[in-house]
Amino acid sequence: MINHLITQKNWQTQLSEAITSVDELLSALSLESLRTDVYVPKHFEMRVPRAFVAKMNIGDRDDPLLKQVLPDQKEQLNITGYVADPLGENAQNPVKGLLHKYQSRVLLTITGACAIHCRYCFRQHFDYSANMPTADAKEHIVNYITDHPEINEVILSGGDPLNVTNRRIFAWLDTLESISQVTTIRLHTRLPVVIPARLDDELLGRLSQSRCQIVMVIHCNHANEIDELTARYLQRVKAAGITLLNQAVLLKDINDSVEAQTQLSQCLFAAGVLPYYLHVLDKVAGAAHFDSDEQSSIELYWSLLAVLPGYLVPKLVKELPNKPFKVPLNIYEDV
Ligand SMILES: *Cc1c(COP(=O)(O)O)cnc(C)c1O
Ligand code: SF4
Repeated sequence: MINHLITQKNWQTQLSEAITSVDELLSALSLESLRTDVYVPKHFEMRVPRAFVAKMNIGDRDDPLLKQVLPDQKEQLNITGYVADPLGENAQNPVKGLLHKYQSRVLLTITGACAIHCRYCFRQHFDYSANMPTADAKEHIVNYITDHPEINEVILSGGDPLNVTNRRIFAWLDTLESISQVTTIRLHTRLPVVIPARLDDELLGRLSQSRCQIVMVIHCNHANEIDELTARYLQRVKAAGITLLNQAVLLKDINDSVEAQTQLSQCLFAAGVLPYYLHVLDKVAGAAHFDSDEQSSIELYWSLLAVLPGYLVPKLVKELPNKPFKVPLNIYEDV
């Protein structure tokens, strides 16, 4: 059984005690009967922290959180158009660990590891070991940034950048803050909803003292991911002066309804977070069963405009390999 006290353990303990056994997960949820539908690919095992499992409904085979993490036989289907590297990122690393696709921002991959394995993840086939910053990486990265004065923002990404120790994050912050052209440091992380205790005082204290603007973009797909504890932690991030945004992925039969998206935006806002992006799925091999077609995505978007205040409607975007920005869906088609 999932012990609710798990959420009070320190984050590193919670990280190491994540559930990786399908049988253990299904039995904790009283869903042993789902066992036959499960297939776990070798390149991307199952991984789900117990604090996230604690937000799932016992006995609900359609639980929107469970569906994001439970491996499914459908991942084996080979479907035309769904490929290993949908964004062509393997070819875009001028320096190992650094992606410079968008003019004013660079993205740094500081770890390949994630606390949770989301089955729709577009990076599930990415060769992190070949792309991690090497020991002398910081110097190369600093040189690259200073050679490109148009860069003013550095995004720490991964994997999940909060998967590493505070000490390592602080070392990155020290380095980036020493580059005068860098005005903004952004973290893209799913840990605040997966293991809320990751947002510890030491981390928030350091972030709030940065000379840079700090932006934290969390990754939350469903209102059920924000329980009371998670909301309380997020409120503390906001109170520390950090800009909090959310990006979600539009996932078929998980959050592709007006009700699910409305509740998500409202729960985020109540926790101090503004919706930023709603991504249509990147066409990664093994995730076709999560894909929602573009026409219904656009219809959903129009419904959200009618229901929500403008500041709670995320931008509906997709990523195209050769575009230097996230591309808005053509919402005016067939109006
Ligand atoms: C998404 C992304 C960014 C950030 O884009 P914003 O529109 O500024 O949020 C930067 N670099 C890369 C490579 C990205 O994929
Ligand atoms: S947390 Fe993000 S990078 Fe990690 S598996 Fe999930 S979607 Fe992929």
